[in-house]
This record gives sequence, structure tokens and C-alpha cells, in this order.
Amino acid sequence: MTAQEVDLSPLRKHYERLRAGGTLGVLTGAGVSAESGLPTFRGAGGLWEGFRAEELATPTAFEKDPVKVWRFYEYRRVALASARPNPAHVALAALQRILPAVRIVTQNVDGLHQQAGSRDVVELHGSILRTRCVLEGTVRSAPATARFLDLPPYCPECGGLLRPDVVWFGEMLPQKEWDEAEEIAQQASVYIVAGTSSIVAPASSLGILAARGRAAVFEINPEETPLAPLTDFAFRASASAVLSSLVRDLSA
Ligand code: NAD
Repeated sequence: MTAQEVDLSPLRKHYERLRAGGTLGVLTGAGVSAESGLPTFRGAGGLWEGFRAEELATPTAFEKDPVKVWRFYEYRRVALASARPNPAHVALAALQRILPAVRIVTQNVDGLHQQAGSRDVVELHGSILRTRCVLEGTVRSAPATARFLDLPPYCPECGGLLRPDVVWFGEMLPQKEWDEAEEIAQQASVYIVAGTSSIVAPASSLGILAARGRAAVFEINPEETPLAPLTDFAFRASASAVLSSLVRDLSA
């Protein structure tokens, strides 16, 4: 489906509320970065050396074999170094300029929303562009273009092991980001859930929270998801097609 073919009529009746300052909340997942060439966890290319992400992105896997877990992240960081924001990221950044109140919450750890120019992005699962010392908790920037010469990397201050500054399966989400994400879902006028399978908890509960609140909820995903029955409408198309059309429609 091309961008021109997306029928946005289910969204149009909400434009007035959004233009008048109602919050557009957007929750994004790995599917939004798929068109930048970054594999999702569950789609094709989701396996790394035969392992599923759920086997590697865990505290237990890191304790057992930090080198293997870091090799997995370096593989993802190398892919990210040559990835660029795609039209979906660009459209979301444009929406933040066109509408008065657009809040982006992401499960992605790739920084592509910020690279596209989005501001105040709530990163629920951290970022692979930062490291964290397991002893002191110090967080440092780690650009994808900078390779670690030896794995695992160690803290230059205290010699502790460094880990990617991400939330692994089985770990708590950062409290401040989670509180912000809940607040956005609860007070949004329109809530768009894009490119997420809606099965990784607790992020998967945000769409449900928005649907129980006052928001009109929309999903953008070429595949069926468990959230779909709770939405006002599910666009079965790519994030780039729907979001680019939305920007054109609102700018017309
Ligand atoms: P997921 O892999 O579970 O689901 C991705 C979803 O995106 C699928 O439902 C798929 O149908 C959909 N999709 C694929 N292409 C799409 C497109 N062009 N437009 C719209 N939707 C599309 O990913 P998730 O729900 O985000 O949850 C998995 C976890 O994986 C998250 O915790 C996230 O942190 C992590 N993750 C992040 C990245 C990244 O930062 N780029 C990449 C892989 C996984």
C-alpha cells in the first residue's frame, strides 16, 4: 500500500480536538524502526546466532556470559550506526511541529526518534547508545559509531563491568519514564500504537489504559495484535505509510 492510498477518515473527526491542544500520545515499537533496516525481535531476522532476544536480553544471560550478551548488542549497534530515521520517524517529528501537544513514548532503544528531530521522547526501555556501570550506576553516552575494542567493556572510573543502558526482560522499567507514559496514556485525546506486537508487558498495557481513558485509540501494524479489538480503528499498513499520510492531511 502506498502512502497515498491510506484512508484516514477514522482519524479525521479527531483533528479539531488535536488542533485545539488535545494531546496526541504515540506509543512506538520495533516495527517503526523496521523500515530503517533494524530487525524486530519477532519478525524475520529476529534471531542472532540462533538465539532469541529473550535468551540474551536478560540479567541472567549477562551474569553467565557478558561477552556473548555484549556481542549481541555490538551487532545491533553496528546495524544502528548505518541506519537512518525512516519516513515514520520523520512524520512523528513533523507532527510535533504541526500540532500543539504530541508526546512520543517508545519501546525502541535505537535513538532514531531523536535523530529525526523528535523532542521529549520517553524511552521506556533505555538506549543502546548509552552504557551503565553495574557497580556505580554511572550512565555514559556510547555512540553507535564508536566500537568497544575489548568486550566486555569496563568502567573507566571504578573498573566495574559496563552494561548497555537498557531494560532487560525480567527487569523493572525506569519509574519516571513509566509514570510519564501512564500519564500520557490517561490524558491523551488520541492515542496511536504503532509498530508493536502489544505482547511485551508492561508497555502492552498502555494502549489498554488509553482505551479505558478518554482517548480514541488507533493501531498501526500490518499484522493482527491482541490490542486491536480495543481500538477505535486498526490501520493494517506500515507506520511510514499511515504517519506520512497523516502529516500531509493535517498540513493540507
Ligand atoms: P516486536 O518485535 O514484538 O513487534 C514488532 C511489531 O511491528 C510486529 O507486530 C510487526 O507486525 C510490526 N511491524 C513490522 N513492520 C512494521 C511496519 N513497517 N510498520 C508498522 N508495524 C510494523 O516489537 P515490540 O512490540 O517493540 O517489542 C519488543 C521489544 O523489542 C521491545 O522491548 C523493544 O525494546 C525491543 N526492540 C527494539 C528494537 C529497536 O530499538 N529498534 C528492535 C528490536 C526489538
